[in-house]
Amino acid sequence: MISGKIVESKIIVFKRLDDDYYEVIMHQSHMLINGEQVVSQSGKVEIIYNPANQEPVAEVTVGLRQDACLALEAAKRAFPIWSATSCQERAKILHAAAALVRQRAEQIARLLTLEQGKPLKNARMEILSSADVLDYYAEEGKRNFGEWISSPHSRSIVLRQPMGVAALITPWNFPVDLLAWKVAPCLAAGCTFVAKPPSKAPLAATEFVRAVSDAGLPAGAANVVHGPGSEMGAELVENPISRKIAFTGETQTGRWIMAHAAAHIKRVSLELGGQSPFIVCPDADLQSAAAAAAQRAFSNMGQICISVNRIYVAQEVAEQFTEELVMRAERLKIGNGLEPDVDLGPMFSRAQREKTREHVADALGKGAKLLSGGREPEGEAYEKGYFFRPTVLGEADHRMRVMREETFGPVAPIMKFKTLEEAVALANDSEYGLAAYVFTNDLKTALRVAEGLEAGGIGVNVNNVVDLQAPFGGWKESGLGRELGHYGLEAYLETKHIRLGM
Ligand code: NDP
Repeated sequence: MISGKIVESKIIVFKRLDDDYYEVIMHQSHMLINGEQVVSQSGKVEIIYNPANQEPVAEVTVGLRQDACLALEAAKRAFPIWSATSCQERAKILHAAAALVRQRAEQIARLLTLEQGKPLKNARMEILSSADVLDYYAEEGKRNFGEWISSPHSRSIVLRQPMGVAALITPWNFPVDLLAWKVAPCLAAGCTFVAKPPSKAPLAATEFVRAVSDAGLPAGAANVVHGPGSEMGAELVENPISRKIAFTGETQTGRWIMAHAAAHIKRVSLELGGQSPFIVCPDADLQSAAAAAAQRAFSNMGQICISVNRIYVAQEVAEQFTEELVMRAERLKIGNGLEPDVDLGPMFSRAQREKTREHVADALGKGAKLLSGGREPEGEAYEKGYFFRPTVLGEADHRMRVMREETFGPVAPIMKFKTLEEAVALANDSEYGLAAYVFTNDLKTALRVAEGLEAGGIGVNVNNVVDLQAPFGGWKESGLGRELGHYGLEAYLETKHIRLGM
């Protein structure tokens, strides 16, 4: 049974302009339950607005808890079929899914830019890299080997079997990529799922899952529900049908999920907030360090869990590094993500921009120096969107919120250090531990610093710790468990020991 009627994916709305009515095609996004696009039992819808100009982009079905239950039941029915499908056959379907995602990439990327704000070129990269994740796990799923252990009077066979139904809950900053990190290993392992994309940016994620589902999955293996996390997400966490919760989002939400998953001792993977330090050693190549810091602090408007949040620079090279960073920040072109050659779009929401403004004001009030940005860009083109200029702050210290909390905005605060021991201690002085970066040309320094940093991913002379084949995840309050690589697949498998008497 499904929760509502099957519907088309486009609606037509009329917009009044100069006394004439113009037809505007607006996207319509529904839930995907049991292989069908459905509306909610509630009949409720919400409009998604473009953060660059506040224009309506789409109408989205808003679900009820009952809809989430129906989706979980559909996933439960599909589980015996999908888990019994051979890994070779699953791989074929996942490769076909990757091909379909690539075929629809332009359409999905456009939706992503319209709902989230990021430049179209970045949206395209996100969709294409999500297709790569499907291809990778198509093959990784074939490498789910067991073990054979011989003892004098017995043989032990160790199997790794799919857990069952997974709930996949994701945020708005990379709504497709972060979902792909879950969807691909989940299906490759033989699990089925219900995804809950972010309520304010559900469009591209839903189209991504539709493409995956269209590649030949059994009905109910891939489901998507829409609606508020406090209702739909909570149902996916609390309902005993889901055996695994894979979540990316705020640490506070992760804490809630972990506590409620405890009721049924569910497996959880939590990818949470970050506050990533970036250390510039005295011998670093300052130009490449500044270029790397600027890119990782400002891209996606700083709304990345592994953004550079705090820069610690050796005092003897601080002036030169700062000049290089400011020059790069001021070169970045800001605008509507659909315009060509735009480096930065708007921030995702008014709330995100307000938080950024508050953090900058707090730092300035405590003695930081504004070296670039710190406010919205001027001009008519920016009036309706949530734009903010990339901001560089000097003389930062640990009393400031930008150095302690996750700003999730385009702000790069700089603090000088005297010794490397001091830099590492400052970097570790945080409850977060997702990513950390160090720039140096000395191998021993690189290793010493990398070994001393408390984070799940360390970038040495590189500003990205994501590699499809390597584990990604956080220490401390940045998370639990790992995604990507073979670790990502293991997160959807249970271990079973079969002991055979001889
Ligand atoms: P949230 O935690 O607010 O939301 C994430 C998802 O959880 C959304 O789909 C949300 O739904 C849902 N949700 C909210 N409450 C509940 C609940 N009680 N039960 C189940 N689901 C719930 O995060 P944001 O969307 O604001 O994303 C930004 C955060 O994500 C930042 O802190 C960032 O650091 C983190 N992040 C971490 C990454 C990592 O890999 N470590 C990567 C990217 C981002 P709804 O949208 O309806 O509120």
